[in-house]
Amino acid sequence: MWRWVIGGTVGVLLLGCWMYERVAVLPSPALSIQSLQRKGNIPFSNEHTLSGKQSAEMHAAFYLALPDDNVEKYVGKGVPLSDMQYVPVNLVELERSQTLHIQGERLLRKEAYEQLVQLSLAFYEQFQQPLMVISAYRSYQYQKQQIAESCKVSGYCAREGESEHQLGLAVDLREATNEATFLAQYQQYYDWLMANAHLYGFHQSYQKGKATDGYAIEPWHWRYLGKELAKQLWEQQMTFSEWVFGTGSKQWE
Ligand SMILES: [Zn+2]
Repeated sequence: MWRWVIGGTVGVLLLGCWMYERVAVLPSPALSIQSLQRKGNIPFSNEHTLSGKQSAEMHAAFYLALPDDNVEKYVGKGVPLSDMQYVPVNLVELERSQTLHIQGERLLRKEAYEQLVQLSLAFYEQFQQPLMVISAYRSYQYQKQQIAESCKVSGYCAREGESEHQLGLAVDLREATNEATFLAQYQQYYDWLMANAHLYGFHQSYQKGKATDGYAIEPWHWRYLGKELAKQLWEQQMTFSEWVFGTGSKQWE
């Protein structure tokens, strides 16, 4: 019995040290612990008993500790999945329709796919254009190979085990690719997605640049987070990284 107690205490201390190194301190986190309490994982009844530093650390710890198959699981640069070789259990194959076309990978988790279909219907209604998926689920092995080959040049890809694509919740959409000048006509699509994608649970993860999100801006990359969290991020104009680590608090390597 005592061995378990001591072992558990040491584990918690080690996790605490690890978190302390990864998360810089915020003077006053913009985020409420109440939202985490609603999820039932925070053992505090009154957020006023927490200092700003404590609540910021707990906020990050909460999202990093979620199981890999939770739709709100955070992964990012240097912040890997719990199981580096994680494969989602409910991947489904995307089907081409009038409103959704597929050019690259075609697997996605069921809940993300169902909402992507709804998003594509609304997009089509607005523009009479289908949404084109150019990337979806990518396995650990695939990501590793990408890094070794094309990504060395582009520099955009996440390392294996650290990609939102490996979660089976992220898609790259051609219509959101507004960076290149010759695709400037896509700006209207991007603006519409920025205004509406959260209604279907999608969030644009990398929209504020390396210092904030750990990666360069990727207007084509959309991640399913569920409607509740996507709406909260949209209302506060925050990226998921800012939400997890606090504005300006994460020191990306
Ligand atoms: Zn992507």
